[in-house]
Amino acid sequence: MAAPGAGNIKVVVRVRPFNSREKDRNARCIVSMAGSQTVLTQLAPETNGKNKAGHKAAAVGSKTFAFDKSYWSFDRKDSNFADQEDLFGDLGRPLLDNAFQGYNNCIFAYGQTGSGKSYSMMGYGEEEGVIPKICRDMFERIDGMAVKDKNMTSTVEVSYLEIYNERVRDLLNPSTKGNLKVREHPSTGPYVEDLAKLVVRNFVEIEHLMDEGNKARTVAATNMNETSSRSHAVFTLTLTQKRHDIETNMDTEKVAKISLVDLAGSERATSTGATGARLKEGAEINRSLSTLGRVIAALADLSTASKAKSKGMQVPYRDSVLTWLLKDSLGGNSLTAMIAAISPADINFEETLSTLRYADSAK
Ligand code: ADP
Repeated sequence: MAAPGAGNIKVVVRVRPFNSREKDRNARCIVSMAGSQTVLTQLAPETNGKNKAGHKAAAVGSKTFAFDKSYWSFDRKDSNFADQEDLFGDLGRPLLDNAFQGYNNCIFAYGQTGSGKSYSMMGYGEEEGVIPKICRDMFERIDGMAVKDKNMTSTVEVSYLEIYNERVRDLLNPSTKGNLKVREHPSTGPYVEDLAKLVVRNFVEIEHLMDEGNKARTVAATNMNETSSRSHAVFTLTLTQKRHDIETNMDTEKVAKISLVDLAGSERATSTGATGARLKEGAEINRSLSTLGRVIAALADLSTASKAKSKGMQVPYRDSVLTWLLKDSLGGNSLTAMIAAISPADINFEETLSTLRYADSAK
């Protein structure tokens, strides 16, 4: 029998449409899908990135991966097509169901810069990502429950932080120093000292904070001559449901945390010609991404291990700030979803392969 409390992990892959750079270079599509299978084709090196439109490059090999779902972003008639609403339906709704039961949950977006992580998580303009859709749905559910059950009160609190070089910065209180302390509470576990946790009463309030936080993230990145792709952004909703039972005159409380994480770009430091401080930063990013991969893989192993075997198994939460802070949201009764965001183009073959391998090892 599987060890109890070992978590429930879903890994999906999402391919974005071609961008203008790829189109300009007549890049070819090297990703195909059938059901939950994703196939990545490697083209012959001399034809890579140099294809004239209509010229068929020779395939030299292919790698097949199986994930929980594979999503296509173009060709609506394709059965693998998913728009923002479909993604929310598959990942966001079950996570909200679980949160309303009182359990913590997480969604991560992983992939190289420009692969569609922010599009999937925050979205752009009308194309709302999974974060705003979760917030909207959460308030709709709360309003619905308040009508049905007068003895129930629900509170939502928001925090938004960024982890850059293993340092924590508060995106909702950007004037604070960029290095908040991570502490551990004896009963409630790891937390960030002095992090703003703001009560929000409706979607408009939360949307305002989201915008403020996103702006703070961009400003910080610009000040460092950077793009925000080098930090992990963690948006957290805490849902507290209190119910007063008139018959017993007792109060019950359920608390659930939803952590929505836009991870730093996964491109390897070496491929961007990094040296000195930049190389160190790349190493830190890789460290937290590799630790996250190892934590998720360890939880997946735990879920299939026998009770006796699971006793000796360690989950390396402490090896990075990101996994340490998410300790109470990974494993146990939590639902975890990983979105592996990829480009469809041959010119990104190496990065796409490394993303798919990472996602594969997280299963
Ligand atoms: P990342 O956050 O990984 O750096 P972005 O989410 O900013 O990448 O995506 C890069 C560009 O691709 C953006 O212009 C975005 O609108 C577009 N894009 C990404 N994914 C999709 C998708 N699934 N459908 C349509 N456009 C997408």
